Amino acid sequence: MKYISTRGSFANIAQKQSFSQVLLSGLAEDGGLMLPETVPKFTDAELTAWRTLPYHALAAAVISKFVDNNDLPHADLAAMTKAAYTKEVFGTDEITPLTSLEKLQPGLLLQGLSNGPTLAFKDMAMQLLGRLFEYELARQNKTLNILGATSGDTGSAAEYAMRGRKGVSVFMLSPAGRMSAFQRAQMFSLQDANIHNIAVEGVFDDCQDIVKAVSNDLEFKRKHNIGTVNSINWGRIVAQVVYYVRGYLSATTSNSQKVSFAVPSGNFGNILAGHIAREMGTPIDTLILATNENNVLAEFFNTGVYRPRKSAETYETSSPSMDISKASNFERFVYHLLGNDAARLAELWKEVDRGGSFDLSNTPEYKGLRERFGFVAGTSTHANRLATIRETYEKTGTLIDTHTADAVFIGREFAKSAIPVIALETALAIKFGATVQEAVGFEPPMTNAQRAMMALPQKVTTMGVDVARVKQMIAA
Ligand SMILES: *Cc1c(COP(=O)(O)O)cnc(C)c1O
Repeated sequence: MKYISTRGSFANIAQKQSFSQVLLSGLAEDGGLMLPETVPKFTDAELTAWRTLPYHALAAAVISKFVDNNDLPHADLAAMTKAAYTKEVFGTDEITPLTSLEKLQPGLLLQGLSNGPTLAFKDMAMQLLGRLFEYELARQNKTLNILGATSGDTGSAAEYAMRGRKGVSVFMLSPAGRMSAFQRAQMFSLQDANIHNIAVEGVFDDCQDIVKAVSNDLEFKRKHNIGTVNSINWGRIVAQVVYYVRGYLSATTSNSQKVSFAVPSGNFGNILAGHIAREMGTPIDTLILATNENNVLAEFFNTGVYRPRKSAETYETSSPSMDISKASNFERFVYHLLGNDAARLAELWKEVDRGGSFDLSNTPEYKGLRERFGFVAGTSTHANRLATIRETYEKTGTLIDTHTADAVFIGREFAKSAIPVIALETALAIKFGATVQEAVGFEPPMTNAQRAMMALPQKVTTMGVDVARVKQMIAA
């Protein structure tokens, strides 16, 4: 299994990359994203055998399709999935349990992906990634300083995955006073020596600008091994493929049945994993993409025009983890859409990188997209979220968060055929308690452990928008 760039480099044999090389690298040198040369397939017999596997063994079986045994021994991979996907960490033996939302909408199911340490689906990939990073860094005799900016979910999932791991330190910038009290407690209560929280007196964009400024200092970057764990990381995508296969197997009894998935989307990382699962052979009928008011992706799937927006045109919404107007992982899907034509892809992204847009509406690829790749898309608003949270609670007793509500709202529109629709739950209601309260009139109740966490001492360094000081901290 070899990896190439969406923009065409590494195309000759000698340059192709292995999984372990791709795991620790970010963008390809030509600015593209790494993808396996061809998507591996599984057989009907394998899918049948997978029905009875526990989650961690299914994860090892699926991910090993993307990894050569002589690159990363499959037995080591299996040991890592076994350690990562446990009841202790994810709350149940099923890891991603299904709940029926039949009383809201016939055929609608909810797949719980948010029972990990930070109560959002990013734990599903990040918990394994922490182990893979520690393993690879030790093997390659390297260390890594992860530098990131977060407005919530990604930063905390990265910190909980990397805490206490050898060879890795995390420096996570967040806008001071702009995260919820719950999110602050979750991140800042970590006392591990390798976790560094930095609250910047500014907005999220200021945090991101600092990360860019530090990363653009190539000498500093090389000297201190600066890296990231952002959503273009291929290890995160393959780890997410697993729960689509599990969701399918849990909702069906025979491989002749199909299901559809409804996915709340921002950076296109989650639903890209669904696309890969479908390409591998999972009998997925439709991939239903849900956006909030920041609907660049829904616009593309409904019109053929991809027009990323500037930060000034990005709305602050009540599903904030989807407030994204340029979907990094989308490039990987378009590469497949264009029949793996790297030269054509590179032409399109030349425009995107210049702040422009592209229009595929008159191409045969766009016209055949629904049929070939199964995508449909829709946009949900604040009012839709409130109504969906309220109605779901009243009819089923299940409290969902704002992002999940976007998926349930759009998913319902497509849940009218005989094929079940699985809506992916990407966070628990407690993380976005204020909007949930607006919908149902009460705050989601906290568990005893969560109440205890809120009371823990917090470790955070607060500073102005100060690149030099962030560098000093990393150097120290
Ligand atoms: C990150 C996130 C999303 C969006 O996922 P993408 O992979 O960026 O499309 C949706 N919901 C929640 C709660 C998230 O944290």
